[in-house]
Amino acid sequence: MKSSLEETLLSAIRTIPDYPKPGILFRDITTLLGNARAFRRAIDELVHPYAGQKIDKIAGIEARGFILGGAIAHQLSAGFIPIRKKGKLPHETVRVAYSLEYGLDEMEMHKDAVTPGEKVILVDDLIATGGTAEGATKLLRQMGADIVAACFVIDLPDLGGRSKLEALGVDVRTLIA
Ligand code: AMP
Repeated sequence: MKSSLEETLLSAIRTIPDYPKPGILFRDITTLLGNARAFRRAIDELVHPYAGQKIDKIAGIEARGFILGGAIAHQLSAGFIPIRKKGKLPHETVRVAYSLEYGLDEMEMHKDAVTPGEKVILVDDLIATGGTAEGATKLLRQMGADIVAACFVIDLPDLGGRSKLEALGVDVRTLIA
């Protein structure tokens, strides 16, 4: 049986078939973000295990990870690190290539965004193949971050992202599958 949290979140997420490419079922969280109760519950649930722990920074993956990550950073009194598509960050960066469920891309982070040893939580809306989160994990670790966990609202378990991250020693938290 689904919990009331799962029901709230599942009913707040919209599915768009064949976006951005034929065959992809796009899980659109803009409807969740626009629903005050669902947005609040998602953030509360993502924050809950870390309340009272010292978390230095939240790293959010462009673009939906910025929205969730900003709210989580505020709740945990942590700083925020934007992980962006290449060419968007103005200062010196580290860059990594990564594969997506629907393509290939590169992402970057500012070199001075993390101080070695800082405790960081990685955040995105959804984990599919795990390629994006794996790339972000590499960037953060390259700069010396201690990744406490990677958190997502949605897991697409058939695509294996969770196991890919767990194999890298990252603790993965997701709210719904
Ligand atoms: P992946 O690297 O395969 O784990 O893909 C995760 C990234 O792509 C996240 O930033 C998601 O926002 C986005 N993404 C991948 N698949 C979907 C999907 N079916 N619906 C919505 N977003 C997706």
